[in-house]
Amino acid sequence: MQAKIIVLPGDGIGPEVTAAAMEVLQTAAEKFNHKLTFEEHLFGGCAIDSQGVPLSENTLAACKAADAILLGAVGGPKWDSPSASVRPEQGLLRLRKELDLFANLRPVKVFPALIDSSPLRRERVENVDILFLRELTSGIYFGQPRERKNIGSQETALDTMFYSEDEVRRIAHLAFETSQKRRKSVTSVDKANVLESSRLWRKVVIEVSGSYPDVTLHHQLVDSMAMRIIQGAGDFDVVVTSNMFGDILTDEASVLSGSLGLLPSASLRSGSLGLYEPIHGSAPDIAGKGLANPIGSVLSAAMLFRYSLNLDEEARCIETAVQNALDQGARTADLADSNTLTTTEMTGILCKLVLDA
Ligand code: NAD
Repeated sequence: MQAKIIVLPGDGIGPEVTAAAMEVLQTAAEKFNHKLTFEEHLFGGCAIDSQGVPLSENTLAACKAADAILLGAVGGPKWDSPSASVRPEQGLLRLRKELDLFANLRPVKVFPALIDSSPLRRERVENVDILFLRELTSGIYFGQPRERKNIGSQETALDTMFYSEDEVRRIAHLAFETSQKRRKSVTSVDKANVLESSRLWRKVVIEVSGSYPDVTLHHQLVDSMAMRIIQGAGDFDVVVTSNMFGDILTDEASVLSGSLGLLPSASLRSGSLGLYEPIHGSAPDIAGKGLANPIGSVLSAAMLFRYSLNLDEEARCIETAVQNALDQGARTADLADSNTLTTTEMTGILCKLVLDA
């Protein structure tokens, strides 16, 4: 098969980890006789510097026409001023909204070889294998009105948490469908004891669950979910939640695996186009030093094979290569104190193991 992939390396370690993911994708594509074409575009802070905007119309059009998008990370101190009118994250939010990428999938697994890198005790993380589905294009990050204004002598601020039935319905369907291929359990996280938008969320999720009698539905309030991720994350299969709750809970859960650098994500819409990126940011503290762990980006490339190109065997080949590399003791600096590999060295090992897998 042939596919065109738009690559948005972004800022900081973004270019280093996307280069690694492209190399691994290319290696796997050649092994399985597929032809991938990569086209790089500026995005984020570097695009602000050269084009004045984080996401140009040209880049957006290229993304819309692609089979899949591979993203590094955006942002950094250079563009972080709270008074800046143009910010790298605006590009990310606009891209998600324009492409209607309503579902963010974040698998959180603890690799057996890295159990001791987790800040939690071994027995708390041994069986962790969660797939989070975070609603990505609505909720409080997009709701209107949002404003700051003076009321009397006070400056005040307002954000709006908005959901429509359709927005909840489509991500709920995806959660149940995904769970059918896993352990057939969906946990819906909300704050239905307080928020009206959560009560709507819960009502719609219950309605949708009626179409999936083989899947068990659980409800969990977001505050107790935050505790249960620490106390017993192994209990969860698919977790579906709103934009802001998902943002916070997935960062919390990512700590279980031992390093932010390990975790991938996919942002999907109806149809096959998807955006794939590691969950970490641009890590300006280590950018340009060869210290970045490429595994989160490489596993995002595996998700690209699975969800946009429908190539499950190729995805599993990359995932097996990662597992084997870790089993053999390959470690970047975020995972060990000594005998560590550079980004390029780890990438070389992963490519070799893709060929061997
Ligand atoms: P970060 O994820 O960039 O870094 C947090 C810590 O984790 C740092 O110590 C970093 O060195 C380490 N780290 C992250 N990825 C790593 C990897 N692959 N290998 C080894 N270590 C890794 O978060 P931050 O420092 O809060 O944010 C830095 C910038 O990234 C900010 O401008 C932020 O806005 C941006 N950001 C972008 C995205 C995105 O593009 N989707 C996501 C989060 C943060």
